Amino acid sequence: MSDSHAPITAADIRANIEKVYERIHAAATQAGRTPTEIALELAVKTQTLDTCVEAAKALANLGHPILLGHNKVQEGVAAAEPVLSEVPSTRMHMIGHVQTNKINQTLRSCHVIETVDSSRFADRLNQRVRSDDVLRPDGICDVFIQVNSSGEQTKFGCSPAEAYDLACHVAALPNLRLRGFMTIGAHTDNETAVHRSFSKVRALRDRCISSGEKGLSEAVELSMGMTGDMEIAIAEGSTIVRVGTAVFGPRR
Ligand SMILES: *Cc1c(COP(=O)(O)O)cnc(C)c1O
Repeated sequence: MSDSHAPITAADIRANIEKVYERIHAAATQAGRTPTEIALELAVKTQTLDTCVEAAKALANLGHPILLGHNKVQEGVAAAEPVLSEVPSTRMHMIGHVQTNKINQTLRSCHVIETVDSSRFADRLNQRVRSDDVLRPDGICDVFIQVNSSGEQTKFGCSPAEAYDLACHVAALPNLRLRGFMTIGAHTDNETAVHRSFSKVRALRDRCISSGEKGLSEAVELSMGMTGDMEIAIAEGSTIVRVGTAVFGPRR
């Protein structure tokens, strides 16, 4: 994009999504995986509502799963009505930290909350799920546990050491369904460290599935990898890559 102030066009969004899916395809093939095991979730932070709607339409027209990831509760709330009225099969995911006073708004605007990182937060969430919520007619909220796999102080997420117990806790809550794990890769040029941050979370997921504990067998998803590290994440088993920059350009 030469003019960084011009809004991105629908055609550019579509072309960029196709390019990211080519990267996913190549990385999966390289790793000996089936490319269709990996879905693209668009990280729409700071994008306009029009761009969110166009992005959902582009995913739908290309026949891909329609996943939008929101960082901020307010942005998710603002996008929910316009996006869901145009593209009702969109799945809205919360990928940012949620303060307890924003739980109700998050539940009303997002289908999936990827950032559960404490039993206290999980308990609060479990209490607030309402059976009359239009987004979840079964009265159950799908969640992921966010793991701070790099140990970086600036990142949210439970520690890898706490994650298994937290998974068991969440799996036992009646109104939550644990669908997987989310992490942000180590912020470093050291590829080995990035691999390690992702492989820790995959090992945790595998341990949960093989435990035989009730409610853990459905925790199969691994939400890991962004524009800069999605090939590494896919090599380590990612099933959802969360991508912003490669589709929408640099953030303003
Ligand atoms: C912004 C963001 C992404 C996407 O990052 P890019 O580098 O722009 O692809 C993914 N996950 C989270 C949690 C984010 O905040």
